[in-house]
Amino acid sequence: MQVGHGLPSPAPGLNAAPVDTPQYPCPICKRTFKRTQERNRHLRAFLPHRIYCTFPQCPYRGDRHENLVTHWKEKHSHTNGGQAPQQQQECQIYDCNQLVTQVISGDMTMENAIADALSKVETRAQMLGKEDQWAGNWWGRHPGPHVYRQ
Ligand SMILES: [Zn+2]
Ligand SMILES: [Zn+2]
Repeated sequence: MQVGHGLPSPAPGLNAAPVDTPQYPCPICKRTFKRTQERNRHLRAFLPHRIYCTFPQCPYRGDRHENLVTHWKEKHSHTNGGQAPQQQQECQIYDCNQLVTQVISGDMTMENAIADALSKVETRAQMLGKEDQWAGNWWGRHPGPHVYRQ
């Protein structure tokens, strides 16, 4: 006679469904995300593009190595351009994940992360002789709402 009767009820909350909406807030605008990846992507969108096309005189910049490979196939594969850079490091200006991690942990402000990234973009442009191509759009993208406009 001990079937299902008299068994202690689980303590309130103990067997409750796990919270399925962990909140990962953006430290800048406080918007929350379900996954860290989404939150980090949100923050990366406020940094300048980090991937650039290594083809001489080409102004292309982007966010993902695979998009550069696609761009290269469309624009340069017919012009003796050789192959697109195979490794992301060959066409990456700075490590945006490192910056985002520092912003999230509070080690760096978003303003400083943006300034750091932009200065690396400008330095790379000088090294490549692409100031003319990139001038007027150092971001390579439309700056997001987090940007502290001058
Ligand atoms: Zn935000
Ligand atoms: Zn290109």
